[in-house]
Amino acid sequence: MTHDPAIETRGLTKHYGSVEALTDLDLEVRAGEVFGFLGPNGAGKTTTIRTLLDEIRPTAGSAEVLGMDTHSHSVEIRSGIGYVPGDLAMYPNLTGRDTLTYFANLRGGVDWDYVGQLAERLDAELDKKVGDLSSGNRQKVGLIQAFMNRPDLLIMDEPSSGLDPLVQREFQAMMREVAAEGRTVFLSSHTLSEVQRVADRVGIIRTGRLIALEAVADLRSKAMRRIEFQFSEPVEAAVFQEVDGVSDIEVLRRRVMLSYRGHLDALLTLLAGRYDIVDITTHEADLEEIFLTYYRDEEEGA
Ligand code: ATP
Repeated sequence: MTHDPAIETRGLTKHYGSVEALTDLDLEVRAGEVFGFLGPNGAGKTTTIRTLLDEIRPTAGSAEVLGMDTHSHSVEIRSGIGYVPGDLAMYPNLTGRDTLTYFANLRGGVDWDYVGQLAERLDAELDKKVGDLSSGNRQKVGLIQAFMNRPDLLIMDEPSSGLDPLVQREFQAMMREVAAEGRTVFLSSHTLSEVQRVADRVGIIRTGRLIALEAVADLRSKAMRRIEFQFSEPVEAAVFQEVDGVSDIEVLRRRVMLSYRGHLDALLTLLAGRYDIVDITTHEADLEEIFLTYYRDEEEGA
């Protein structure tokens, strides 16, 4: 049985001299979720991960991974998780298969049938020396290494860098399958579209501080989106002006276009009681827009 929460940090802080790489991070990653850890370059994502793996010591605070203290139980944690570091060191003269054998031996064996399936899905080349592989193909060996023991928790630092779009899709499906089995994925990324597709929740970090922690679905509802309604009869613009979150209304008899920020449900409930809606087209705001909106609001609020 996997531990819930899979990751818990309390006041986790790492300063390098005057550089505040990470400040007072309180985070809970729940068992069975894909958690997207999103932030621009230098935000503190890698610092967080390296602290969880006890590669670096926090200046203050503490963390538990699978219920174990990251410092006193680092060896058990290492053997119980799958880890894709930003820069996985591999012996260039070993083939992919030999590399996986090496990692498997460290962990007491592996199911080679499962490795074969993973390799096929990622279109990995296991018979070439890893030193002769392109960076994307080398990355696939790193991913298989992390997935192959079916760990309760996968911690991955920018894992899709260098993967082509088809392989990225397959990799995203693999992450969703891990979560569907009740296992957990901690995905550090600056690829917004990937987090949007794959994550249940997202933590946004900037200059070492967590500035937002949201379900991806809620984050979406905070974004502005353009909506077009068709009604069976002409309507008045005034009806929409009184609705919270509505702006930029254009009325062309039975057709209304507007911008809306909020839960769609609230708007639809209000309209459905009064008008006969024939058609609705919404232009889904993507996470990039939301991300930028968030950063802007944060700056204005500060
Ligand atoms: P990226 O997306 O670029 O990988 P990141 O979010 O992973 O960025 P970190 O690598 O955690 O960011 O870096 C956070 C901050 O800490 C940066 O300002 C970085 O320069 C600084 N930093 C990281 N490691 C060290 C170190 N060993 N010594 C001094 N400063 C460091």
